[in-house]
Amino acid sequence: MTKKYTYLFREGNEHMRELLGGKGANLAEMSNLGMPVPYGFTITTEACTQYYEDNETINDEIKAQIFEYLDMLEKQSGKKLGDTKNPLLVSVRSGARASMPGMMDTILNLGMNDTVVETVAKLTDNPRFAYDSYRRFVQMYSDVVMGLNKSRFEKIIDDVKAKRGIESDLDLTADDMKELVVRFKDFYKDQLHADFPQDPKDQLMGAIEAVFRSWNNERAIYYRRMNNIPSSWGTAVNVQMMVFGNMGNDCGTGVAFTRNPSTGEKKLYGEFLMNAQGEDVVAGIRTPQTIDHLKEVAPQAYDKFLEICDTLEKHYRNMQDMEFTIEKGQLFMLQTRNGKRTAQAALKIATDMVDEGAITTDEALMMVEPQQLDSLLHPMFDPEALKSATPITTGLPASPGAGSGEIVFSAEEAKQANDEGRKVILVRLETSPEDIEGMSASEAILTVRGGMTSHAAVVARGMGACCVAGCSDIDMHEDEGYFVVNGQRFNRGDIISVDGSTGKVYGQAIKSVPAAITGNFERFMKWADERRTLQVRTNADTPRDAKQAYEFGAQGIGLTRTEHMFFEGDRIKAMREMIVSKTTEQRRAALAKIEPMQRQDFEGLYEAMQGQPVTIRYLDPPLHEFLPKTDEEVAELAKEMKMPKEELDAVIANLHEFNPMLGHRGVRLAITFPEIAEMQTLAVITAAINVQNRHPDWHIEPEIMIPLVGSVHELKFVKNIVSKTADKLIKDSNVDMKYHVGTMIEIPRAALLADEIAQEAEFFSFGTNYLTQMTFGFSRDDAGSFLSDYYDDNIFDSDPFAHLDTKGVGKLIKMAAEGGRKTRPDIKLGICGEHGGDPASIDFCQQVGLNYVSCSPYRVPIARLAAAQAAIKFGK
Ligand code: ADP
Ligand code: MG
Repeated sequence: MTKKYTYLFREGNEHMRELLGGKGANLAEMSNLGMPVPYGFTITTEACTQYYEDNETINDEIKAQIFEYLDMLEKQSGKKLGDTKNPLLVSVRSGARASMPGMMDTILNLGMNDTVVETVAKLTDNPRFAYDSYRRFVQMYSDVVMGLNKSRFEKIIDDVKAKRGIESDLDLTADDMKELVVRFKDFYKDQLHADFPQDPKDQLMGAIEAVFRSWNNERAIYYRRMNNIPSSWGTAVNVQMMVFGNMGNDCGTGVAFTRNPSTGEKKLYGEFLMNAQGEDVVAGIRTPQTIDHLKEVAPQAYDKFLEICDTLEKHYRNMQDMEFTIEKGQLFMLQTRNGKRTAQAALKIATDMVDEGAITTDEALMMVEPQQLDSLLHPMFDPEALKSATPITTGLPASPGAGSGEIVFSAEEAKQANDEGRKVILVRLETSPEDIEGMSASEAILTVRGGMTSHAAVVARGMGACCVAGCSDIDMHEDEGYFVVNGQRFNRGDIISVDGSTGKVYGQAIKSVPAAITGNFERFMKWADERRTLQVRTNADTPRDAKQAYEFGAQGIGLTRTEHMFFEGDRIKAMREMIVSKTTEQRRAALAKIEPMQRQDFEGLYEAMQGQPVTIRYLDPPLHEFLPKTDEEVAELAKEMKMPKEELDAVIANLHEFNPMLGHRGVRLAITFPEIAEMQTLAVITAAINVQNRHPDWHIEPEIMIPLVGSVHELKFVKNIVSKTADKLIKDSNVDMKYHVGTMIEIPRAALLADEIAQEAEFFSFGTNYLTQMTFGFSRDDAGSFLSDYYDDNIFDSDPFAHLDTKGVGKLIKMAAEGGRKTRPDIKLGICGEHGGDPASIDFCQQVGLNYVSCSPYRVPIARLAAAQAAIKFGK
């Protein structure tokens, strides 16, 4: 049997999105609900996939089905494509499974040619309308199918208007339209050295193919990558009989939402234009009227539309975004879909609809996109204040939030200004690990270089700081204390504002408003918490981050990177001493300086989490990352260590590694220098005991995590050191305290041998950043340079560091989870890579049965909602 590639609207329904695309499935559904939808048929997404399999040709089988369905459409409508008596005109519309707004273009009035236009003029007794429709068709076809930019035709229109001394398109006469058609066709011929196609069937096939092709245009590929949509889905094509909103003053076209998409208010919201065709409403050439006015100009159509809105919202159990056209007073529905909305509106609509009894709380939870919550968690610029501001430049929106302050050019300056209570924006060419403290002392970070995954971007997102990266328009003169952007000079101390949600930078102060989880948001999050089975923890290195995460609802810390604490202030010096120590005694002396600082940090973390579990990872990075970089720094350290500088230089040279990521780091450090693990245990346990004593009603059980383990023997060796130190401390303190030792699973070998490792590990935490690097064999920091080619060629659909590769890396995780549970049925399983805050990856964690996900503080609410959705989708 041959495959069915085409469906009349009446053959489909809303559940056939995968095959018919969102637009096609909903057109079918509306037809079946008895709503006035112009006849049409849908060519399936499978036809699109087949088109690519056949090397970008539409094969004969599919072609035959298209013509067969065209025939049926002609019978339904009583008109014929290209007919000289009663011609059919159609629109050709794309429609993927997931809505991809503005990604692919639509062609209207297809079927127009030099003879059809005459017939239409006669039949409607409206030559202006006929030629207007034809010139629109030439314009759209040339743009979408032949790649001749629309704007070049707009120039011709402007030219005709200027010649006639008119401003509005509405004032163009039938003769003007006729002239436009001639000039458009001439322009077409001039540019493409061929006549504008006159055979409607050729036009139709050209248009269908163009829709298929547009699936792989740059915008579409980018949009798919951002939204984790596989390239294998393909797009459907809808061929639909035209209805005309441009036939006169009893005609019109519009769009409307069943509720307000920016506030969520329960009130029809929309606009329309009389005597216009579809795209005019959004094009902004004429100013549309608000939807309530439709009551006056087309009362019958308005009443019918209200009734349909109500039916659709009830039917889809969601706010709808609809397109309609009125032809000679009669209403036609052209599209409906769940409307896009702001985060505020999403929460209001979800909670309102529950209160109205229209949907369940589960449906409400599924209605809000987790990622969207992000915009509610950061301070925002006051939208009113933004209206009157013009950006000086735009970079990449690397980390959301809003900040205004004085320009500074170094982390040092930022810190100092912050101590003095001044607000600053740190402007750098790019940032490096030493900048961390200065970054957190700034209202926002602005970098000239770097992309969305640059150091500045990753660190800023981690700490919830506002950041705009890759602002390449900026000409930096850091040493002289100024920068120039688009001819404007900004000096140290000048006030600028940075919007991390849009990437825009302003040369002035702008008022901002803070974030809080209250009202609808709070209520909604409570539903999420009741529904989810996955716990949500946070990755936090400082008490400040931990506190923020706690406020956002974190149920513990899943990862504390102890080394991040060493970059601050005097600590780096003690750390450097420790690294260059030649004897165990020297090393112990240096470690003894660090221990009280670590203890203090850990106490801060325990305090911030108020008795919830805290996982602390032992020292992980290659030691040389901490080493002094400049000659002065080396000299200073040598002096401190009472060591000749040459000797220190030699030590540093000795620590050089060819491939530090695969070098002396992680558990390997604790094996060569057991006293590091000893010191860290001392700090962890003493801190826990102190905080437990201060808060007898809390229940503190430290979780100690050993990184980069690949063999059970490594873990056993370090665990011994930990136990010896910890047990003694606990015994001496007379506090009854339990603690747990576990490991990160981040080396493939650990995943393969998880059953063995679970003999020693009481918990696993999947370090999916490193596990992804090790599984793919490329590093996150280097992959950026070539992955873009992978996306362009559809080799990868998305960044495996952003969305977990469930197929490969996921296989290792599944295997490790099973292995771990086999040995230790009550083993605790979590994930602490960047993926822990990514909704798609959280779905996977739910399916594998992990106990918790851990993510940066600002992703905690996102993860809470994503976990609730995962429980609804995959829970038992
Ligand atoms: P988009 O996804 O960009 O909205 P659409 O396929 O929905 O693209 O169509 C673009 C515009 O053309 C919309 O305003 C739509 O209502 C209008 N339109 C599409 N098909 C028809 C038709 N058969 N008759 C009249 N207008 C149409
Ligand atoms: Mg549309």
